[in-house]
This record gives sequence, structure tokens and C-alpha cells, in this order.
Amino acid sequence: MCKKKLKSNENYLCEVCYSYLMSNSKLKKNKNIYYIYVYNSQIKRLLSDYKLKNRKYLGNILARIIEKKIQYIILKKKIDVVIPVPISKERMLERGFNQVEEFLKISKINYDEIIRIRDTKHMYMLKNKKERSDNVINSFQINLDLKNKNILLIDDILTTGATIEEIIREIKKKYETGKIYIFSFATTTKILKRGREDGN
Ligand SMILES: [Zn+2]
Repeated sequence: MCKKKLKSNENYLCEVCYSYLMSNSKLKKNKNIYYIYVYNSQIKRLLSDYKLKNRKYLGNILARIIEKKIQYIILKKKIDVVIPVPISKERMLERGFNQVEEFLKISKINYDEIIRIRDTKHMYMLKNKKERSDNVINSFQINLDLKNKNILLIDDILTTGATIEEIIREIKKKYETGKIYIFSFATTTKILKRGREDGN
């Protein structure tokens, strides 16, 4: 994360970064969004390294951080269905795995899958809110029994919220659900600010 050279007894993360991750790993909540970290360049480096290079060791560390938190939310909010945000077939071929599903598998948390039917552009390439929501519209296919179910959607990073908002829109279009919550490993300050502006 800090780009410093590792000592011989360190594995991927240096002691300083590791203890930074651990000491800031309390679960936080803003409206219906649960998160652990506020997104910054170091968290970004950590997650993209994991995503693009499939470092299993890192997956285990991350899973250890999120495991108990997700289990806690499932109990506290009486969650019936856990749904990880899917990646497209193209990106699956590129990376070989869905990082969010990988966390859940390591943590032995049961989940249901929805399908991403369109390969969307990376959100960071899109300038405004309209472009971002157009980019993901009608991208998801949901065939689950969600009637009256409390749902927990899981993503690794919440940057603009456009993807998760589209999934929620698609779910609500089709089902009368119970409550819908979101868990993300890291969330941008932009999203957290929005929560406060809404009066929460
Ligand atoms: Zn470090």
C-alpha cells in the first residue's frame, strides 16, 4: 500500500500498512450503507492489486477483515439474501474471478447470484451522473425469490453508487422486497456526504 520495500518477514503488506488496516477496521454506517474504509489512494492500490493480480494471500487478509462484519449485519438486520455485485463475462475472463464472491467464499457466507448482461465501461471514464447511470441501465438480470426478503448487496468499492443504484432499481421494479442494505469494503467521501445531505 505504501510502496515501501518489504522486510523479509513481511508478506505483501508491511507492518505499518497492516496495522493501519486492522486499527481502522471498525464497521461504520451511513444511511443504509455499511462500510469499513473511506476510499483513498492506498485502499485503491490494495484492492486493484488484489483484483488484477489475484493475490490469494491478500484475499485472505481482506476476508478476515470483512467476515465478522457481514455476519453481524446479517444477524442484526435479519438479512435473508446476500447478493454480490456481479462482474461481466468479459471482465471475468480478464481476471478469472469476482473479487467480491471470492471474499464471501473464503468467509463461508452463502450468497445468491444475479447476472450482469452488459459489459459496461469503467465508471472512472465517465464524467457525469447521467453518463454513469446510462452506462449501467438494464445491465442486470435478476431471477431470485426476493419477495419480502431483506437484502444485503455487497461491493468492494462504492465510488459513485451508480451501479448499486441500478441494481436496487431493477430489484424494486420486479419485487416487493423487505429492506435493502449495502455493504462495501471502502466508500468514497462523496457518497458519505450525500448521505448527510439527505438528512441522515
Ligand atoms: Zn506499507
